[in-house]
Amino acid sequence: MNKYVERVLNELNTKYPNEVEFKQAASEILNSLVPYVEKHPELEKNKILERFVEPERLISFRVVWERDNGEVEVNRAYRVQFNSAIGPFKGGLRFHPSVNQSIIKFLGLEQTLKNSLTGLPMGGGKGGSDFDPKGKSEREIMRFCQAFITELYRHIGQFRDVPAGDIGVGAREVGYMYGQYRRICNESVGTLTGKGITFGGSLARKEATGYGLCYFTEEAMKEILNESFNNNIVVISGSGNVAIYACEKAIELGAKVVAMSDSDGYIYDENGIDLALVKEIKEINRGRIKEYINVHKNATYVEGSSGIWTIKCDIALPCATQNELDLESAKILVKNGVKAVCEGANMPSTLEAAYYLIENKVIYGPAKAANAGGVATSGLEMSQNSSRLQWSFETVDNKLKEIMINIFKNCYQIAKEYGNQYDLLKGANIAGFEKVSKAMLEQGLM
Ligand code: NDP
Repeated sequence: MNKYVERVLNELNTKYPNEVEFKQAASEILNSLVPYVEKHPELEKNKILERFVEPERLISFRVVWERDNGEVEVNRAYRVQFNSAIGPFKGGLRFHPSVNQSIIKFLGLEQTLKNSLTGLPMGGGKGGSDFDPKGKSEREIMRFCQAFITELYRHIGQFRDVPAGDIGVGAREVGYMYGQYRRICNESVGTLTGKGITFGGSLARKEATGYGLCYFTEEAMKEILNESFNNNIVVISGSGNVAIYACEKAIELGAKVVAMSDSDGYIYDENGIDLALVKEIKEINRGRIKEYINVHKNATYVEGSSGIWTIKCDIALPCATQNELDLESAKILVKNGVKAVCEGANMPSTLEAAYYLIENKVIYGPAKAANAGGVATSGLEMSQNSSRLQWSFETVDNKLKEIMINIFKNCYQIAKEYGNQYDLLKGANIAGFEKVSKAMLEQGLM
């Protein structure tokens, strides 16, 4: 290992012994930057890696809110403003009981590279709370969102930090947060993205991460294998926002999607997933994926979600959560002849699984590149808000497609330049880092 990279990672170990996810992400990124770091001694001289892994600011705050029965609840919340060298901090908010400082920092670091890859002027940030939206009433969700933004509003702004959604934060939650922000600040500016269409939201934002994932995958299949989604079998984990719209686009591009999941288990339908039914269960009724087999008796439901990777498929799209695809799953996928594994979720593959896929010449689309369509479209929402315009669905979708194809081409080009066309992970890290580190160097010490 390179001595400089080793030293920076050791320092992180000493400083943050308990931040497992953050150190996992930092180690993955820094290790793949080694060949670039060796070519650029100015990075070590200016301590760029030390600065790159240390967030500019980390805000940790208390959120106090009230249940319908009058009981008082207290949650922890965070906003990490990771790196603003190339633009205002930008990144989603996650509401999930697993949220802690380590997870928010890992997401913020990844977001910095992802935003850089989009080619848009956006820095990296991320936030969230250990609040669990499950089982909460509509009014409780609203009160929590209002209390959350009442604390956070002072740290964000259209030119400073622009939050959006993530796990547990969809259009409904963004709406409540934006409403409270507007009420406190008395101004209508695009400080949050993922807003409703009637108050500054962008058309195609809802679809963007899933569609973008498929545009990236389609381009990779075309370029590397001279193939496409057409006539291929696809397995998608999750059944949330990313999974649903990845499924929609994959079907539109001619694939047959045979499985989806939620945190309880997965469904397998060899006739192809009935997406309208999944949308009804998940988007409208906020129900469980197992309800699918009540309608499609031929389909099967299996308890426990990780088994989904044992299903034979050509393209796997993990779209649920971090570390959901481990080495064992990667081995089964490879044995079953998988051609591409492209990540809709953030860090869904463990590092061992990712390396195994790359070694076995599977097209591996790392999250920071393959799922950048969501934030890219958020960037397009910011542009629309600043110019006081609303673009058509087609305009946004075309720009999204162009951005995703460019992201693939950049990663692929650099992967080839550094010796392995299948190492899109290295390609993505170096492509994203190059722009951020140049901006940091040119702006002096800070
Ligand atoms: P949602 O909350 O809409 O959906 C998450 C889905 O994953 C749900 O179906 C959930 O099931 C399922 N899930 C959660 N944990 C597990 C698990 N352990 N095993 C199997 N399924 C699980 O979130 P999104 O679709 O928005 O986000 C999914 C991923 O994509 C996250 O990693 C997020 O960071 C990433 N992402 C999202 C973007 C966006 O635009 N939304 C942009 C870029 C990345 P259940 O209902 O049971 O909880």
